[in-house]
Amino acid sequence: MLVRRVLSLVLAAGLALSAGVAVAREKAPHLTILVSMDGFRADYLDRGVTPNLKALADDGARGSMRPSFPSLTYPNHYTLVTGKRPDRNGVVGNEMEDAVIGGPKFKMNGPNANDPRWWNQAKPFWWSVERQGKKAAAMFWPGSEVAIDGVRPTHWMKYDHDLAYDTRVDQVFAWMDQADGPPLAFTTLYFDAADTEGHHYGPSSPELTAALVELDRNIGRLVDGLKARGRFENTDIVLVADHGMAPLPAANRIVLDDLIDLSKIHLVTRGAVTSFSPELGQAKAVEAAFLGKTLPHMTCWKKARIPARFHYGRNPRVPAIVCLSETGWYTTTAEARKKPGKWDGRDGGAHGFDPYDPAMRAVFVAHGPSFKPGVVLPAFDNVDVYPLLAKVTGVKPEKVDGSLKVVGQALR
Ligand SMILES: [Zn+2]
Repeated sequence: MLVRRVLSLVLAAGLALSAGVAVAREKAPHLTILVSMDGFRADYLDRGVTPNLKALADDGARGSMRPSFPSLTYPNHYTLVTGKRPDRNGVVGNEMEDAVIGGPKFKMNGPNANDPRWWNQAKPFWWSVERQGKKAAAMFWPGSEVAIDGVRPTHWMKYDHDLAYDTRVDQVFAWMDQADGPPLAFTTLYFDAADTEGHHYGPSSPELTAALVELDRNIGRLVDGLKARGRFENTDIVLVADHGMAPLPAANRIVLDDLIDLSKIHLVTRGAVTSFSPELGQAKAVEAAFLGKTLPHMTCWKKARIPARFHYGRNPRVPAIVCLSETGWYTTTAEARKKPGKWDGRDGGAHGFDPYDPAMRAVFVAHGPSFKPGVVLPAFDNVDVYPLLAKVTGVKPEKVDGSLKVVGQALR
């Protein structure tokens, strides 16, 4: 009798245990994947060459995002993961200087780009994920190689432009499949092809279209791999870009030497956004050359007078004078023209222009258990992506510039 009772207890316990395992298997951990397709303009989605992206958009939410000023890669990638505009997150340009840090100029992918002092004016999303006991990874993202306030994602990789896209997707799966520690709660995934081909050949080129096809194939690989692991239903995928792309005709160049003796100014950036500080004692002369007058294809402001809609100019890293080119125009120098690069002298594409220009709009697609199907959002600022990531990942956010006012309409 006693033996039988013990036996039935053991059996009951065994059943309960196996039922528990079955429940655990059914309820896979939630994962948020933030995919950046650099330079993927919002309307590329409607070219009819990205069926996998379109399927995610149809079964989820889509929209078009205004980048933050300046509409460049590093400032906007950092805005997407900090919810703070470049003026507040400290990454005010792809190239920048800081009087306190000193030394050589910060350049994206440059030798000093991973000095934490450039990044520590804001905390990226993975910082909060890790600090709140969850696990984060970054399959490339500006800032992810840096210990920001002492924290890196658990998994990260040194940027390698040549790393095959298949390998990047498979690396995310490898991190997901790791059994030790807490399950992966958040990861980034980064692809550059739409930006690279857009710059070289322009946004309407067959080369750009081929890049979209290749990107879409990799989104398909991501979806298939999630499905094969039984993880698709529990994964929120947020696909974004940092900016759009405008045609840049080869002839559309503003030669700065035609406007001023360059020895009188200290040039920090040129291209779509030209920024500089006058050399000592030259302020009046330089201001007379650039301010309060009509310049060919560009407008300049003292940093304190930059239009409010750009939310830019308070950060000490913003140079004294900032100029914005008309869309489709780049500044250059006579010296740079003497040694043209491989892509100079031909029509291509560029960004960095007015974030309110539709050509600068970035793609947004969100799919997964947190998102309603068939939602088309009105245009919104890219600072709103961070609060959305925090909401769907279950992470307490930092105080940021963005909100859920618009993007919250996509949530279930
Ligand atoms: Zn970019």
